[in-house]
Amino acid sequence: MKIRKNDQVLIISGDDKGKKGKVLKSFPSQGKILVEGVNLASKHVRPKKSGQKGQIVKTPKPITSSKAKLICSKCNKGVRVSNNRVCKKCGAEI
Ligand SMILES: [Zn+2]
Repeated sequence: MKIRKNDQVLIISGDDKGKKGKVLKSFPSQGKILVEGVNLASKHVRPKKSGQKGQIVKTPKPITSSKAKLICSKCNKGVRVSNNRVCKKCGAEI
């Protein structure tokens, strides 16, 4: 898997297509990544005290890494990279 934690990625398919975000976590054994603000699932949080309202909190869920492309900081867009994480467009290391 070429995508690692703290990489900037562009989502290329699914509901979040076109979104950009930072990789918060990677799960190489599952081929999945967790991206900030992407694939959000609503989670209901119960009130802690009586009289308080319950809340809906959105938390990201992991996505398949093939749904994301690395963003090259030189090209400033999602690019294809070779195995050693070199941008195929400009040759910069990502
Ligand atoms: Zn590039």
